[in-house]
Amino acid sequence: MIAAALDDDECWTAVLSRDRAFDGRFVTGVLSTGIYCRPSCSARHPRRENVRFFAGAAEAREAGLRPCKRCLPDDVSRDEKAVLAAIETIKASEEVPALAGLAADAGYSVSHFQRLFTRMTGLSPAAYSRALRLERAAEALSGEKA
Ligand SMILES: [Zn+2]
Repeated sequence: MIAAALDDDECWTAVLSRDRAFDGRFVTGVLSTGIYCRPSCSARHPRRENVRFFAGAAEAREAGLRPCKRCLPDDVSRDEKAVLAAIETIKASEEVPALAGLAADAGYSVSHFQRLFTRMTGLSPAAYSRALRLERAAEALSGEKA
């Protein structure tokens, strides 16, 4: 199985560069050791011929692989869920939600949650809230003109 929307060469390049931006988009299965990893895993790189790429942890487990104890690839989806839930909270809130509250909802420390959110969205939670409000204001304005 090939990771969704990525070909094997792109996956392998991400693994070689330990590119964290690819965490959660696929996992790297290492047939010789029977484990699967995040693309950014800090473990020594396996030989290319022993590697298969999977769209997600579930697919890798189906193939009989175990999650790596070093990079904890299963936690990627937990991270993703936490950020997606925070985005929902931000969208549903009138005011910019407090970072501490968002982090507490996710069960993470404030600093960890801020890093996680920023890594996945490219914006801090506060900047994301402001951008969303600006976008809505612009939409409301253009709606009035029409
Ligand atoms: Zn790993």
